[in-house]
Amino acid sequence: TPASTLPELDASQLRKNLSAAPRAVPDRNSPEVWSMSTCTDHMVTVRWTADNGWEAPELKPYGPLSLMPTASCLHYATECFEGMKVYRGYDGKLRLFRPDKNCERMVLSSARIALPAFDPRELQKLVEALVEQDGSKWLPVSQPGQFLYIRPTMIANAPALGVQRPREALLYVILCLFPSFDEPTGTQAPVPGQTLKKPGLKLLASQDDMVRAWPGGFGFAKVGANYGPSLIAQNEAKQRGYDQILWLFGSNAEVTEAGASNFFVVWRTRDGALQLVTAPLQDKIILDGVTRRSVLQLARERLTKTWEGDGIKIEGLEIVERKFTMSEVDEAIAEGRLVEAFAAGTAFFIAPVSEIHFRGKDLDIPLAAGTTGHYAALLKNWLRNIMYGKERHEWGVVV
Ligand code: PMP
Repeated sequence: TPASTLPELDASQLRKNLSAAPRAVPDRNSPEVWSMSTCTDHMVTVRWTADNGWEAPELKPYGPLSLMPTASCLHYATECFEGMKVYRGYDGKLRLFRPDKNCERMVLSSARIALPAFDPRELQKLVEALVEQDGSKWLPVSQPGQFLYIRPTMIANAPALGVQRPREALLYVILCLFPSFDEPTGTQAPVPGQTLKKPGLKLLASQDDMVRAWPGGFGFAKVGANYGPSLIAQNEAKQRGYDQILWLFGSNAEVTEAGASNFFVVWRTRDGALQLVTAPLQDKIILDGVTRRSVLQLARERLTKTWEGDGIKIEGLEIVERKFTMSEVDEAIAEGRLVEAFAAGTAFFIAPVSEIHFRGKDLDIPLAAGTTGHYAALLKNWLRNIMYGKERHEWGVVV
């Protein structure tokens, strides 16, 4: 049968089988939530086979999957995923933030590991259906400002050890209760009675024996194969008192990404220009972050001229996507030209960076406003206002 005649992913076929044993919602600060293992009452699953295409999606009780030990994903990393959030707005509404971008990226990622294609708009409808089902209980209207993490996932699950293009796959969506990483305590669980560390993320620059991604590889795709091999470096960072790895690439130590976030600096060039700089996408070694895009677009729209408000006045910026190296960052710091640095991604949102450890040196990055730089604070605030419905914007999609 030609592939085009097989059934496509179709959210309108969704069948619902609701949980008979819904769970109590745990407290946001409980150890259970910090362990990031708590999901809501339901999940969506859709089966695909090479012979019959996409089956009808199912919304059903959250629970274990059944896999044969030979399933392709357990051996050959035929797995990809997305990370997005649903936000409970201050107007009582539930919103997704640019969900079309996540769903499109999921199609891109699945193609890189030979998993089946689908219409990204159908995935978005399935995400919306799950959010509609569980959102009112797990994100109560009485608690605006909170979110759930959404994890669309696809695995190849055909029970066959042959190293070959997957003939069966399972697409599923789960909603997970996350602590608020982006609040002042940073990325570590708060320890009662312990004083907070210096504000801002501390990054450990990666060394030549730990490369996250390379040209011709798959760094641009959100595939599990990018994350497992990064964990020893991430663990070393934690052991040494850093929050995340700053991933460098190549013999001249190009700066690429920070942990599971994109990385930005604001610096003044030796010619006196003030620039917001982030690494470019063209080599395909960097994830095209939804937060990254949004930061760049808002900065282009709102920060290229002097900005004044809330008692501060800041200079307009040039917005630059180009390769830059650790030597340039190091020199900018030494010459007092580095204005601020921040990481940007869904999980940690906009997180100011206060320190980078590179080749035996701790480089100190200024935090103009005490706990953050002014540009990071403004961008974070604008994005947060869109996510939580304080600013009406097409990026905030009401469910
Ligand atoms: N880089 C990597 C490697 C990531 O895993 C993520 C998280 N998806 C990001 C950047 C940030 O992307 P986004 O803003 O879409 O969350």
